[in-house]
Amino acid sequence: MSIKVEAVAPSHGGMWGARALAIAMFGGFIGLAAEAAAESHAVSAPSLQHSVERTYASLGLPAPQAQPRPQPQPVEALEWRGADVDGDGEDDFANPTGKDLRGCDGFGCGSFGADRDAGGRHHEGVDFDASAGQAVDAPISGFVSKIGTAYPGDARYHFVQITNPALHYEARVFYVDPGVREGQPVHIGQKIGRARSLQARYPGITNHVHLEIGRIGGRRLDATRFIAERMEPAEAQPSYAEAAAPSARG
Ligand SMILES: [Zn+2]
Repeated sequence: MSIKVEAVAPSHGGMWGARALAIAMFGGFIGLAAEAAAESHAVSAPSLQHSVERTYASLGLPAPQAQPRPQPQPVEALEWRGADVDGDGEDDFANPTGKDLRGCDGFGCGSFGADRDAGGRHHEGVDFDASAGQAVDAPISGFVSKIGTAYPGDARYHFVQITNPALHYEARVFYVDPGVREGQPVHIGQKIGRARSLQARYPGITNHVHLEIGRIGGRRLDATRFIAERMEPAEAQPSYAEAAAPSARG
């Protein structure tokens, strides 16, 4: 049993000492009363509360209200989610790196339609930040319909194309060292390879994977129409250590 008495310092300094002393004595008195009550094992919690209230009343003071227990709050967190285009309740698109969208750097911006070659062409994909060597996940389910090179004559950089005839969508993920082969079925979120560092070709660029999404045979669409970060109920409250850890997002 503990009784918390909030001591609020009055603006008149002279009163403070006397008031603190009174509170201290009063606290001791309540403590004794509670102890005495608790020692007689027959006493119930309500009658103990009642005796405390009576004690306060006899001193002409309002009894402190029991502090309500803090209720667990539903915890929400930003999560990458994909559109459910076939209505089966499952995401049909996924962020291939789990990291943020690439912003702008000396080589351009990562958004769909951003200028390339001084406005000579437009960015036909959406770039997701990546750490060199990190796992890259399939952005859609389907089968690996092609593995190719990103730049003619440069064997370092590959793309993995995944086609999903049931959804009528296909996706190309660039700058991946493939861990899959052509013809292989893949499930959304399954690892398809590792992110390749872009520093050898574009020194200083933000490492990323470039994602193109479109209807099969159609023009490329803005992948952020299909993949977005949303507030979602978190499954478990992160521990303090996790919450305090520096963000993994580069
Ligand atoms: Zn790109």
